[in-house]
Order: sequence, then structure tokens, then C-alpha cells
Amino acid sequence: MIGVAQGGVRIGLDVGGTKIAGIALGDDGSRLGSIRRRTGWGDAAVLEGAVAAATELIDQLGAPVQSIRSIGIGIPGLIDTATGLVLHAVNLGVASLPLAAGVQAALGVPCFVENDVKAAALGAASLRQDTEPMAYLNLGTGVAAGLIIGGRIWRGARGTAGEVGHLSVDPQGRVCGCGQRGCIETLCGGGALARAWGRGGELPVRDILDAADAGDETAVGLRDDLFRGTAAAVRALVLSADVETVVIGGGLTALAPRIEPGIRAWLRRDAAESPFLQSLRLDERIELLPADSPVAAIGAALLSSALAEIDPFEKEMPVHG
Ligand SMILES: [Zn+2]
Repeated sequence: MIGVAQGGVRIGLDVGGTKIAGIALGDDGSRLGSIRRRTGWGDAAVLEGAVAAATELIDQLGAPVQSIRSIGIGIPGLIDTATGLVLHAVNLGVASLPLAAGVQAALGVPCFVENDVKAAALGAASLRQDTEPMAYLNLGTGVAAGLIIGGRIWRGARGTAGEVGHLSVDPQGRVCGCGQRGCIETLCGGGALARAWGRGGELPVRDILDAADAGDETAVGLRDDLFRGTAAAVRALVLSADVETVVIGGGLTALAPRIEPGIRAWLRRDAAESPFLQSLRLDERIELLPADSPVAAIGAALLSSALAEIDPFEKEMPVHG
């Protein structure tokens, strides 16, 4: 058994469409263990998978369950963070799942649930040395961002803050799943790129890059879409929230060395005619995470503090009259 403080271990689970990545963090943020397992389909299987993943981590630590302070879960879909209810996680077959209550009932440990991209934003922020406002841009099947302002997840009034994937930047562009045309997601989302490519394959975005290198015209167009869509997302995040850094993560960062120069080049190209955009130095404000960086699981492990915290504005509200 490892030496962990009583009640100090925090477990974080990143529940994705195909796999659950789990991590255990000590009091000081050190990584004590990690696991990976397949995700099930539907309410019961997703809950069962989360409980099994947490149990596997606890067993790996050889620690009694009492030493676990909290379990945090990042999962796609609409999340009611106050109750831990997951709604419309379509790629997991989940319509409405009281996930926090289920995990808590099974293991007797407090459980917190957050949208996976917002959890990843928290995780990415925790790995940084500064406390400047930042955005985490997730390039996966879809495109979404999480904002960390003042060290906290910024949700906005209705939880829509950071949904830059559905900002339309091309009125003549491809139709998006959301019903609009030319959304950023239709340009740089892995799912949209795969559909536009239409040639199947296990890693269609890699195939697009390979074909573009070989001079295929369709592929060159789609590669440009990937770069200009990502550049548009970075521009939107900096112009709307003035984040110092946009950390780019998600499945497409498996191709980081092949896409990073293109994204930077497109940011410079966009700024070429605009002294205003040039002054923002957008190309210097992006960072790509290494492939398979566990930021979502790390962020999930930190949810117990992030979600339990008292609203800072409440404490600082001046008393009038
Ligand atoms: Zn859209």
C-alpha cells in the first residue's frame, strides 16, 4: 500500500465514446495510478463502466475506499453540475443518467460530474505555470472549447460559453449537424472532415493529410479547411474572452507535428492585411498538447474543489446601505 493521506486521493475519469481513461491524484497533485477500459453503450453500461473504472483504480492503489476523497467524471453531453445529471450524451447512448448519484451510491464516495471539454480545460489549466485566462480548444470528432477565467471554469449564463464550434464563419459552407451552414466544426471537426472526404478508413484526417501531401486537390482543400477552421476558433476565443493562451487538445492532436505549422501559418495569413490582428500575435498564443495527454481525467479529478468552491463573487460582493 502506498503512503497516501487519509481521504486525500482524488479519482478522475474521462468517459469518452470508446474508452474511459482514469487517473488517481494524491494530495499534492502527483499521479498515483491510471487505467483505461472500454466504454459501454447506454445508461446502465456507462454507469457500470464508471464504477468499474473507479474500483479498478482503487484496487490498483491498494488503498481502502475511505482514503478516496472524491470521484470526478468528465463526460460529453449537457451536464447539470449541481446534481451530476447527464443529458443527451448521444455518442454514449445516454438520454438522461443521474451519474453522480449512481456512482456515489455504489462506492460511498462523493462524486462530481462535468462536461468533458470543460473538465479538460480545468486539467490543462492545472498543468500551466501561470494563472492567466486561458481557453482549451478540443479538436475531436466535434469542436468545442472550455474557458478558464480566474482559475475557474467559465460557463456563462446558460452553459454555452466556449461553444465556438457552432460559430458560422462561411455562409456558403457545408451544412452542420446543428442546422447552420459553415460552422467552424464543419471545417475542422474530425467527423465533418471524414464525411467530406467520404473515403472511409480508420484515420480519415491522417489520410487527408497524406493525400494532400501527395497533391490530391480535394485533400488540399480539406487540409486548408482544417487550418482555417482552427484559426477561426482561436481568433474567436481571443477576441471574445481575451485569453492569453489557447491550448489545443483532442484526438486530432495525434497529428500535432503535421497540423501545428499549418494552423500557425493560417493565423499569420489572416493577420497579414490587419495591423489589429497582427498586434494580437495569435500565432504565438497557441499550444498543442501531446497526443493522449490525460487533461480531461486530471481536470475531472480536480472537480471536487472546482465545483464545491463557494462563488468568489458572493464573498467579495460589497455590502451596500
Ligand atoms: Zn454547427
